Amino acid sequence: MVFQYKCPDCGADLKFDANQGMIACENCGHTEKVEEMTGDGQLRQSTDTDHQDVPMEDSSVVSYQCQNCGAFVMTDKNTTATKCSFCQAPIILGDRLEGMLKPDYCIPFKIDRQTADLAFKKWAKRLRFSPMDFRKSVKVKKVEGLYAPFWVYNCIGQGEAMLKCTTSHHYTEGSYDVTETNHYDVYRSVDTTFKGIPADASERLEDRLMDIMEPFDYSQLVKFEAPYLTGYLAEKYDYTDKEMFPRVQKRVSNYMDSYILDSVHGYDTKNISERHYNINRSYTSYCLFPIWINYVTYKDKDYSFAMNAETGKIAGKPPISVPNVLAHIGVSTVAIFILLRLLVVLLGGTFLW
Ligand SMILES: [Zn+2]
Ligand SMILES: [Zn+2]
Repeated sequence: MVFQYKCPDCGADLKFDANQGMIACENCGHTEKVEEMTGDGQLRQSTDTDHQDVPMEDSSVVSYQCQNCGAFVMTDKNTTATKCSFCQAPIILGDRLEGMLKPDYCIPFKIDRQTADLAFKKWAKRLRFSPMDFRKSVKVKKVEGLYAPFWVYNCIGQGEAMLKCTTSHHYTEGSYDVTETNHYDVYRSVDTTFKGIPADASERLEDRLMDIMEPFDYSQLVKFEAPYLTGYLAEKYDYTDKEMFPRVQKRVSNYMDSYILDSVHGYDTKNISERHYNINRSYTSYCLFPIWINYVTYKDKDYSFAMNAETGKIAGKPPISVPNVLAHIGVSTVAIFILLRLLVVLLGGTFLW
């Protein structure tokens, strides 16, 4: 089943417009609210009722027929929204957004392509450790607006922990310097809830990079409707909420550690020596979050950078210029060296330069 939204006024492709927060026609300027489209708007979906999926030999690739030009469009097994490679019309693959695969919520794009592009160039300019020619004129090969699949968890964390804590004080007794350390065993039990912990559910997107994209502003969440995807790429999850949960548990366990450590006061050192936590899910939702991905080639190497298309936060691993890094470290080394020398002089020592 393929959804392709057409303008009722001129028949051109409708796309979700990040600035207006509405579905818009680039051709004639017609706009429509997503909520309005999904009610009676169903009429305007050109739905391919024959389920013309043609499984190819490689089962990871499926082809769909474009309703616009009739071409067969190959898609990766996880794609849920793409565009026709022949006529560029936005295509939404409805059967991958149904039942278990239907997202609960999404955050619509807030930052449009042009704004994202400018912000990225500005960001690149400020990369102190990157080569000058990269910073000055970063060449973006391709920009993709992508809805990344995430599981969002509410968790209950219960359990107990033992801490080893110490206090110490120093004094002089005659000609001796004495340090007296007292050891304490501290016990804490916890019962906490954690809301809205996201975990990237796609294999293609790097977990760590997606973690840096956080936080997403959940006040912008809307109930998922397929038209939000029109004009963007979207993927479905590779990993189920159950498969991703151990990763979330680890995270919650760390949160519980710091929660406990924060609750213990009055010691000079505190360390958790033993913990027994029970971390369970109370609620999981399947969400799509908007990401701009910039693909850049620099000196025949490929780089990709991601931007949270809601908040504008950018991350990625840029090329590094060794001389720039050394120059920076060099400055601080000289500073430390001078400081050391001053100290030695102040303390009445001699310094061999
Ligand atoms: Zn139009
Ligand atoms: Zn087409």
